[in-house]
Amino acid sequence: MSVSKQLYQEVILDHNKKPRNWGPLADATHKAEGLNPLCGDHIHLAVKLKDDTIEAIGFEGESCAICKASASMMTTVVKGKTRADAEQMVREFRDMATGKLDPGAPHHLGRLTVFSGVRDLPTRVKCAILPWHTLHAAFNAQESTSTEADADPMHAPIGDAS
Ligand code: ZN
Repeated sequence: MSVSKQLYQEVILDHNKKPRNWGPLADATHKAEGLNPLCGDHIHLAVKLKDDTIEAIGFEGESCAICKASASMMTTVVKGKTRADAEQMVREFRDMATGKLDPGAPHHLGRLTVFSGVRDLPTRVKCAILPWHTLHAAFNAQESTSTEADADPMHAPIGDAS
């Protein structure tokens, strides 16, 4: 097994056993739910923005291991970031998961690059992207988002939050 594959499995296992920022958020300012009917992933995401910075974030729901690990890691990396920085990461994560990220260009994904392998697993790409797409939906006051139809993260435009 390659080092990156091993790391990937360790990260997925760890975040499934101990998902970070799991649970509802009492004083959330932004909320959305995300659905991926292909796999059955269904998550609820809540964010508390203060002065345009993510002060708190929480998620819960039923999802596969990849979706749960992606959501868990996402909450740890975007907490404390501004909304604009978080949206930038949404775009970068989506590009990475779909194989569109330029490996030579600078990005802000850090240890999230363990998910880069999903680009070779087409049925898993949506599982990994769903939490990020849900974060984008929450910022843009969409109550729910789905990986199907217009809201498909593979095709939906993810622009700057404004
Ligand atoms: Zn899934």
